[in-house]
Amino acid sequence: MATTLVILGATGDLTRRLLLPALYRLYTLDLLEPLEIVGYAMEDWSREQFIAHIKEGIPGLESHHDLKTWNEFSSHLEYRSGDLSPEKLKELGPLVPDNGIFYLALPPQLFGQAAEALGKAGLNDIQRGWRRLVIEKPFGWDLASAQVLREQIHREWDEEQVYRIDHFLGKETTQNLMVFRFANRFLEPIWNSAHIAQVQITYAETLGLEGRWRYYDAAGALRDMLQNHLMQLFTLTALEPLSVWSAEVLREHKVEVLRSVRPIPEGAVDRFAVRGQYTAGLIGGRAVPGYLQEPGIPPHSRTDTFAALKFYVDNWRWQGVPFYLRSGKRMAASYAEIAVQFRPVPGLPLGQRETPCNWLVFQIKPSEQMDLIVNAKRPGLGFEDRQVTLTTPYLQEGETEFSAYEQLLMDILEGDHAQFLRFDEVEWSWRILEPVLAAWKTGHPEPYEANSEGPAAQARLMEPGQSWRPLSGPK
Ligand code: NAP
Repeated sequence: MATTLVILGATGDLTRRLLLPALYRLYTLDLLEPLEIVGYAMEDWSREQFIAHIKEGIPGLESHHDLKTWNEFSSHLEYRSGDLSPEKLKELGPLVPDNGIFYLALPPQLFGQAAEALGKAGLNDIQRGWRRLVIEKPFGWDLASAQVLREQIHREWDEEQVYRIDHFLGKETTQNLMVFRFANRFLEPIWNSAHIAQVQITYAETLGLEGRWRYYDAAGALRDMLQNHLMQLFTLTALEPLSVWSAEVLREHKVEVLRSVRPIPEGAVDRFAVRGQYTAGLIGGRAVPGYLQEPGIPPHSRTDTFAALKFYVDNWRWQGVPFYLRSGKRMAASYAEIAVQFRPVPGLPLGQRETPCNWLVFQIKPSEQMDLIVNAKRPGLGFEDRQVTLTTPYLQEGETEFSAYEQLLMDILEGDHAQFLRFDEVEWSWRILEPVLAAWKTGHPEPYEANSEGPAAQARLMEPGQSWRPLSGPK
């Protein structure tokens, strides 16, 4: 049976910069089963124009051999123009004779309308083959809008047909979290509140708005990064072991973590959440404007360009362990990690100063690697200890790296839901954040200078004796 991938919004950035390069690489590696790809958008382009536009987005297509492969690949590309009406979409029917994937690379406010229209056009018809619908985060703007979106999608599509992408789930470090936790005998017995003191999940960028001001000013860091990407890293860190490797069991366990998060009290949001907004500064020696001076941003915008949260998970495993999550723009480093701190050793066995705590760090960027920070004897006379870091790069020599989109597109083609969000996961993550979103409708974010560690106020989330790991040189 033939498989056709239809991309709605195919003239956009996502399609050219991420989706088609990923599909092309899979093709060059001979991993792609026969696949017809149809781009669909409003632009009145010819097929040749679409192919030329996509080709410009594929890096390093120079050699004769590459061009031959590209020509073979592009012979499977089609383009059709049209709007999102069921009448117009119906014209896609003959191009999708059997199995079909409908990827909504559209502005998020069109997801519901497009999903319904595809159904009304009969393109969800499973009599002809399987039919899948793919949407990218954001899944709603808050709990109420996420529920409205679910209603719209489910009028025409069943939950098992829907693939909700959070591309962090396609990252190697994210997937490794589960393997590393559950495939190592030494780790699971100590992965709990008896041995773990705190978990810090940080995603810091030196970048600013990069032209996305319209979207970003409406969203802010909490909606753009924490509600989705960082909550995913959090659930995978706190997850209970799976009895079987199945998408449904995995997703059920993730929902169970979210269900166990202690609700943030409406009257005490400041104890659990901090927001910031960057002011002018120097990044890489270059002067950058403050958020309120960025082109397009209203002068009194209260949008958070930094957000930090503290969660407690009220279950047997995690009782009392704080999980700190934070993300910000225009920070001192482009750095991301999941850092787990173990409790101190009992007593002072060496009769000297207090022995520093161990950390296990899953670094996401600048390089994907694991760091285990341990204490060992300082060489020389006497018995002094010092911290050393055992580091392993995630990718070993000769291994092939796959991008998040390459991983996730393969999963969609294979019908594997494990790395995609079920609706109740989305719903729970919004529910947890409702008090924060409500509180942040008023007041203002704390200012922080560009090229800094973020607002000083983030320190108020910390339990006594704990502090944020520095972004520059935490190892
Ligand atoms: P984009 O560059 O703005 O492209 C959006 C596409 O939707 C274009 O083809 C656009 O066509 C079409 N479109 C816009 N308004 C439309 C309308 N009223 N009716 C029909 N088509 C319309 O956006 P993008 O960056 O590709 O992002 C697409 C989706 O992926 C968004 O939901 C975004 O949040 C998500 N996403 C993007 C990225 C990324 O890096 N780009 C990463 C993760 C998630 P015209 O150009 O003709 O308007």
